Amino acid sequence: MPERTTVTILGATGSIGRSTLELLRTHKDKFRITALAAGSGAGALCELAREFQPRFVALADKSKYHELHNGLEGTTAAFDCGDHAVTDAASLDADITICAITGIAGLSSTLAAIRRGKTVAIANKESLVCAGKLIMDAAKEHGTTLLPLDSEHNALFQIYDPAKIDDVTALTLTASGGPFRTWDAARIAAATPAQAVAHPNWSMGAKISVDSATLMNKGLELIEAACLFPQAAAMLKVVVHPQSVIHGMVSYRDGNVVAAMSQPDMKIPISYTLGWPNRLESMAKPLDLTKLSGLTFEEADTTRFPCLRLAQEVLASGNPAAPIVLNAANEIAVAAFLDSHLPLMGIPALVEEALQLETPIRPASITDVMTIDEGTRAWATHNLKRFAA
Ligand code: NDP
Ligand code: MG
Repeated sequence: MPERTTVTILGATGSIGRSTLELLRTHKDKFRITALAAGSGAGALCELAREFQPRFVALADKSKYHELHNGLEGTTAAFDCGDHAVTDAASLDADITICAITGIAGLSSTLAAIRRGKTVAIANKESLVCAGKLIMDAAKEHGTTLLPLDSEHNALFQIYDPAKIDDVTALTLTASGGPFRTWDAARIAAATPAQAVAHPNWSMGAKISVDSATLMNKGLELIEAACLFPQAAAMLKVVVHPQSVIHGMVSYRDGNVVAAMSQPDMKIPISYTLGWPNRLESMAKPLDLTKLSGLTFEEADTTRFPCLRLAQEVLASGNPAAPIVLNAANEIAVAAFLDSHLPLMGIPALVEEALQLETPIRPASITDVMTIDEGTRAWATHNLKRFAA
């Protein structure tokens, strides 16, 4: 049997992690797991470890050490708890690392994986938003192949030719518009967490689902695209496309527009990163264009969805501290909204005020990034109550 490709999954118990494992279950002959890491779900992680028999299991939550220890009984996996354990998992020598932790919590493990110089598939967009330049520089320095896993960026990666950069006039990311696309402002303002996480096309974790409902997700993705593709920020566009069939488009100066299409199923971009540079069966439903009632496009409404405007302003500002502030304030606000401590429109209100604060440093290192992140989180947590009404 040919040597199998080794894979580490950071965020193994989440939506992306589980879709990746579903693919690996189907392609057992091609892949084996090196390490699995998660946040606090010890039971779910142990169940996956018993099935996939990784070499190493890491859980960020230190208080779950005994649960992890007991749950792994009968396996040969080494294990550890704490943030350092997640970074240790990322540092093990796997051929491919899937970075699928939510939020800036995924940054240090993403960087640890990149420093190993193999292949890193990055779903953890918050890391790119906050430390894009540091990540791209580290990938270059260590000869790491960085593959975008976010569906729009994965689509663009497949159709964008860096050798033709001067011929490109626009990179367009599509947005489904989320569950509130057709709602008026008053109804959006009264939206509940359950309504916000009920995405019409994609099944995802809670945080990214809320970001999709506010269109902050698309704003984060514009900043993510600015890191991944060497195109001027002004050339990065968003169009609302409710069917989520086209994921990304590259416009050329001769008028040609190349679009990448697929079913809205994350197993497709994940399988692309697992198989790269070859193609794998993704088990996704084939796309039958004759069965679609149509493909429609709308402009994004930044009045009803001010989070997108805020992210666009951050990108246009060119201030490298601003994306970190945007992301940190948004992470705090989304968590508060999910806990029913903040109304939906409290999210852009809190983020907008955070962006008006002075940021004392320009981020030149991960320590600087974390200093700005922690300062913003402290301010946002302290000021949450003012936005709760
Ligand atoms: P989920 O909330 O479903 O999963 C998050 C994963 O991260 C879980 O395994 C969770 O573990 C783990 N985790 C959380 N905090 C920590 C921590 N401090 N240390 C280690 N692990 C941690 O999220 P998604 O899978 O939906 O999204 C993951 C990332 O991928 C996000 O950045 C998102 O924006 C991006 N993405 C997701 C898409 C999707 O379709 N879901 C599409 C494109 C991008 P536990 O369960 O134990 O808490
Ligand atoms: Mg996306």
